[in-house]
Amino acid sequence: MSEPLRYVSTRGGSAAVPLSEAIAAGLAPDGGLYVPTALPRLDPAAFDPHGTLATTAATLLAPFFAGDPLTAALPAICAETFTFDTPLRALAHDPSTLMLELFHGPTSAFKDVGARFLAACLRRLPRRDARALTILVATSGDTGAAVAAAFHRQPGVPAPDVPALDVRVVILYPDGRVSPRQAHQLGCFGDNVHALRVAGRFDDCQRMVKAALGDAALQAALPLSSANSISLGRLLPQMSYHAHAALGWWHAHGTPLNVMVPTGNLGNALACLWAREIGLPIGQVQLSCNANATLPDFFAGDDYRPREAVATVANAMDVGAPSNFERLRWTFPDDRALRARLQAHSVDDAAIRHTITHHAAAHGEVFCPHTATAVHRLDQLRAGGDASAWAVVATAHPAKFDSVVEPLLGHPLEVPAALAAMLARPAHAEPLAANDGALRDWLTRQLP
Ligand SMILES: *Cc1c(COP(=O)(O)O)cnc(C)c1O
Repeated sequence: MSEPLRYVSTRGGSAAVPLSEAIAAGLAPDGGLYVPTALPRLDPAAFDPHGTLATTAATLLAPFFAGDPLTAALPAICAETFTFDTPLRALAHDPSTLMLELFHGPTSAFKDVGARFLAACLRRLPRRDARALTILVATSGDTGAAVAAAFHRQPGVPAPDVPALDVRVVILYPDGRVSPRQAHQLGCFGDNVHALRVAGRFDDCQRMVKAALGDAALQAALPLSSANSISLGRLLPQMSYHAHAALGWWHAHGTPLNVMVPTGNLGNALACLWAREIGLPIGQVQLSCNANATLPDFFAGDDYRPREAVATVANAMDVGAPSNFERLRWTFPDDRALRARLQAHSVDDAAIRHTITHHAAAHGEVFCPHTATAVHRLDQLRAGGDASAWAVVATAHPAKFDSVVEPLLGHPLEVPAALAAMLARPAHAEPLAANDGALRDWLTRQLP
């Protein structure tokens, strides 16, 4: 048996708690983000070389769950999460470029992984409160749908020992700043899922959610939790596909795999870095960002300067104040050490469009705008002579962003079946002003 692992706040002002408490809370009471007291270490030889994504995830996450009430359920939680694959597919024209395809889940973006894992954990946690739990989720486009799909009433057959969880999901998204199909997806659930279109940016939505979670009076009236990438229940499982891909590559080739991660709020990339820190055979990690250059500027040597997000064609990455930066700083407290272990680059809309057009015409490969930022950065490395193996993290299916991609291709894209089913349902979202009070009032009105 390994030692129990406890979780503390990045800001150092909250008591150490077991993992399930950190998952249930979302944000630490002092406003910081939960992190383990220390990252565990794992030997790659500990993994079954013939394991599935779900068994890799269970091995990887076991030390994070050590001593927690959820430990015994971890294999079942992983099996419930990974009902779809995250294949590593080599490009025909360049076999050392591998697409790590994370879009085969119910809502066609990688956010399904974290959302399904979080839902599987929350379903199994003892209820502190007999009242319904309200899960707040700020989304730049894809998170909201993934969380809604994971908690929506109709799907999912809970295990016989798992009671149905009385949960409602409240989604906040920046009105007019998500793709039309994303907006439709967010509004199509109904039942226990409420979509609010906020007259502001993603950073406003994120701030409003944080304010509500930190509002003791509101929390007393209405039990709240969050499903943003600030939640450990979403961050931790995202290590699994990076680990599984790197292990598969390592077993086949005996070398570490470099990873290029399209980055917004820094959840996916941080999960990759944590997987590397705990001992998985991951080589270089680079972040590709859109025109929102908060991280690229920091990695170029500037002070960390969060700012207002600007709208781009890779809208799920329109983040000016990436919340997981606090966890990155915790992981690498020394800025110089951090800059030595990681790079970040900004890719503007023209380069995103060019990359999509060029790869479709030259190679018949179609990427979503977010994935295209990473492909663009790798194209630059290839032009500079880098011939090593790189996994490009493909974060969403291009058909989710048809309004950007189709005009570039000049023909319609095939729509994955699950996405097509959502688009066929009616959709509805309520407008909301971009201030903390407006969300508090809306939630208070919703009280039973
Ligand atoms: C959320 C998202 C990103 C950014 O991921 P972070 O974890 O926020 O850095 C990139 N691409 C797509 C398609 C996304 O939905």
